Amino acid sequence: MVCDFKSHADLGNQILKDLTDNPINCRANSVHVTFDDGPSSNITPVILKELKLREVKASFFVTTTNLAPEHPKYKENRAIVLETMNAGHLIANHGHNHDAYCLRMNGKGETLDKGFTQKEREEQLAKSIELLQWSTGGKYKQQTPQLFRFPYGRGAMPSEMELQKMVSNGEIVLKGKTYKEQLAEYRHLSAPLQTLAGANLSHLGWNHDSSDSSFAVKMPSDDVVRSYILKNLKGLCTDPQITKVALFHDIKEMNMTAIPVILDIGKCLGLKFISAQEMVKDKNLNKTGVLIDKQDVLIGMTKNIIETLDETKHIGVNQCTTVTEGHKTCYSKDYEKTYQHCTGGDSVCFDGEWKANTDPIVVNNCHGK
Ligand SMILES: [Zn+2]
Repeated sequence: MVCDFKSHADLGNQILKDLTDNPINCRANSVHVTFDDGPSSNITPVILKELKLREVKASFFVTTTNLAPEHPKYKENRAIVLETMNAGHLIANHGHNHDAYCLRMNGKGETLDKGFTQKEREEQLAKSIELLQWSTGGKYKQQTPQLFRFPYGRGAMPSEMELQKMVSNGEIVLKGKTYKEQLAEYRHLSAPLQTLAGANLSHLGWNHDSSDSSFAVKMPSDDVVRSYILKNLKGLCTDPQITKVALFHDIKEMNMTAIPVILDIGKCLGLKFISAQEMVKDKNLNKTGVLIDKQDVLIGMTKNIIETLDETKHIGVNQCTTVTEGHKTCYSKDYEKTYQHCTGGDSVCFDGEWKANTDPIVVNNCHGK
């Protein structure tokens, strides 16, 4: 294999030798490269230069604390954001500070972050939009597509454990039985996604994680960089039929060396590096939830409201149903009133039927709690 190296030729040739020993069967995937958490005044400009050399357009999900006057390098960082946009890359939003927009748990079920309240979400979003507008002379909002990525991805793709916790906390009511069904419902009911849709923002996650966040910010050893590049090329080359949305961070020094080699050898292997505008055309990204379009969130919300209204219409005498309003409540057609579950006055909604609150089953199950 002969590749055209625009820089880092030694490292590139070493990787080519590694690939000769352990070949990758590469599919001609389209790849959209994304960078989170920047800008970084010493790393982002180098990455911009390498992208320009190869005419690759990427998305940069900016963490806007880097642009706030409290940040020691905010002036430089703002200039980098404007330069990035002027070079034809997409400036996207990664929120203001880097806390989670929704519950975040680790694999053991321990809570790492309880997630913003609705008020905090709205404030964070408003602040980040204002700082991006300010840094780009108002041009940020004129871009298409308008993309946001939640810190840690939380708010778009909760784990099964996180979903169960939200349901048991009463934060969300889901009808679906399987995790997949619940995830589809969550995309329409999630307050973080609705907040984005309200601000005209779609959510872009990723389906290829470079795993650079598990490395230190400073440059690791040559061997580590080499295996990092190989692992990424392998990942980007496999699983066809869908555009790869690749997650990198422009606050990691190793990417100054790794990105140019990944781009050069990737191209050589048949990968096509595409812009954000080309990426959003792949409808498989919507189907798999990697891209959650603001329109789909709004249509889903409306559908859910209509279904809920429909349910309340079909209530017979002495029957009740549960309606979704963040927590379980019961509606009585007789009294034309909504009651909290298990807390009626003279009667109580229990298992879909109104019962006297002296009924022993109800007393045991509701009042006995
Ligand atoms: Zn991040």
